[in-house]
Amino acid sequence: MIALTLMSSNTLRAFILSQGEELLTGQTVDTNSTWIAEQVSGLGLRVVGGYTAGDVRTDIAKAFDLALDAADVVLCTGGLGPTEDDLTAEALADALGLELHQDSEALAQVRSRYERRGRDLPACHDRQALLPVGAVVLENQLGTAPAFMLSAPGRGTLFCMPGVPHEMKGIWADHIRPRLLNMPGVQPPLRWHFNTLGKGESQLQDELRAIPERFDGVRLGFRARMPGVQVKLEADANCAAFEAAVSWTRAELGIGCFSDAPGGSPEVSLAARVGDLLMERGERLAVAESCTGGLVSNLCVTEPGSSRWLDRGAVTYSNEAKVDMLGVEESTLIDEGAVSESVVLEMARGAAEEAGVEWGVATTGIAGPTGGSPEKPVGTVWIACVGPSGERAKKLFLPTGSRTTTRIYSATIALDILRRQILRTG
Ligand code: AMP
Ligand code: MG
Repeated sequence: MIALTLMSSNTLRAFILSQGEELLTGQTVDTNSTWIAEQVSGLGLRVVGGYTAGDVRTDIAKAFDLALDAADVVLCTGGLGPTEDDLTAEALADALGLELHQDSEALAQVRSRYERRGRDLPACHDRQALLPVGAVVLENQLGTAPAFMLSAPGRGTLFCMPGVPHEMKGIWADHIRPRLLNMPGVQPPLRWHFNTLGKGESQLQDELRAIPERFDGVRLGFRARMPGVQVKLEADANCAAFEAAVSWTRAELGIGCFSDAPGGSPEVSLAARVGDLLMERGERLAVAESCTGGLVSNLCVTEPGSSRWLDRGAVTYSNEAKVDMLGVEESTLIDEGAVSESVVLEMARGAAEEAGVEWGVATTGIAGPTGGSPEKPVGTVWIACVGPSGERAKKLFLPTGSRTTTRIYSATIALDILRRQILRTG
């Protein structure tokens, strides 16, 4: 992504600290940090760094020191559990030269969660209520580990959250987000996201590079979301040109953009967009898949209400299946091979005809790692779409090096070709 520049000088700086040996050894993926980064950036804070510490008290204390030197707000997750390796509160007390004390509110919360479950509090849970003096407890509705905040005068504000992702998210929503929104200087920026397919980042950048000059204060960014790209516009809350920039960008991207929405709001997926277009027309789809093995159907079925527009999907992997289920001519398979324009078109026609629906989509290709030839190397994929706007077949070359990735790209591009064909019907 191109860095979003022009942060004003009073922008609050945030630092994300994740804690846990399992994160350092790769046993657990640190999803908390990315989630928190997205949330705090959405509020207009600038994330200036992150750090992962293991279960060593002195290392965690050093990490807190580093974080407070770099930022105004520190968001820490992990290490608040009841076991000996949960050391966040102790390490923070060390870093700030504070005493630990048994926090009565934290203890009451830990106890009440156990009582609600009809269980006695095991002795080790007393540890969870040992917090640095001055910590303010943030009630955890979803687990026993109490979260807390602490303000370190002259250094910054710290928020310590449990590592369990859904508990962390609950604490964020209940306590941290509202507090950050109340901090002086915090004003969420205006953000808009456009989901595009068909053009690469550099081409999109060329086409949209006028934005910062044309629309004062609007910043442009890109995020690869293979096989597509998400285009992002951002501006300070009071930017007058933002709405016009959104409209201009939408027009400029044209058919290449399948959905757009304000940053942070739910996104409309490609399959949902295809479904909406089909439902507007009262038309239905049948899918015939070889190399994607059901992925196109899967993308469709993921959308609620897809039974209204998806009639069926067949995985026709062998030549026999293509003949039996779709009526592909044996001679076409022999003459052209299974990965060919003629076969993919016969598959798409066969799917629509067998189902008696308006639209047929088909895929056939060589996902690899074996099965390629000089004429048809691994990554060669044919996609076809037949329907009221005519027939379209497209050859792709996707040497991604991964069978899974080639299949995902092929399925996505197949749905996008369908979307474009539907839009061509006017
Ligand atoms: P803790 O609060 O350190 O006891 O962590 C509890 C559990 O939360 C761990 O066992 C992990 O499964 C999970 N967890 C901790 N930190 C993270 C993180 N940064 N990202 C995702 N999961 C985490
Ligand atoms: Mg831990």
